[in-house]
Amino acid sequence: MASTGSCFCSKVRISFEGEPIRQATCHCYDCRKISGSTYSTNLIVPGAGFKLLSGEPKAISKTADSGNTVTSHFCGDCGTTLWRDGPSFGENKVVKAGTLDDVKALDGLKPGFELFSDLRVGWVAELPDTVQKTAM
Ligand SMILES: [Zn+2]
Ligand SMILES: [Zn+2]
Repeated sequence: MASTGSCFCSKVRISFEGEPIRQATCHCYDCRKISGSTYSTNLIVPGAGFKLLSGEPKAISKTADSGNTVTSHFCGDCGTTLWRDGPSFGENKVVKAGTLDDVKALDGLKPGFELFSDLRVGWVAELPDTVQKTAM
């Protein structure tokens, strides 16, 4: 079963096959900027079943704290980041959970990990039953 995702203006559309490998929130400072919010919620999916369905996303690469390059793929018209990839993730894609077209799907995709948990905003609570990681 394929899941689809899209940006705010719907020009860029993606899909992936099957269930994500895992779900993780990320509290790093890059994710604050990318999301324009307090943290990101991410679906790590296999690259093999991942497709760009429409649109021509822009890309920006930056060296993460891990020392690896992470590339963000985003809509140049509306600014939504749809996915990230790079050596830290192997062939996997890190899909931004909020881009899912099935808005109810996230109910069944509770994160199992919180990354950069030491950078979590003070008034954001730890998610119950998650592995807390202070680095990637
Ligand atoms: Zn867009
Ligand atoms: Zn992050």
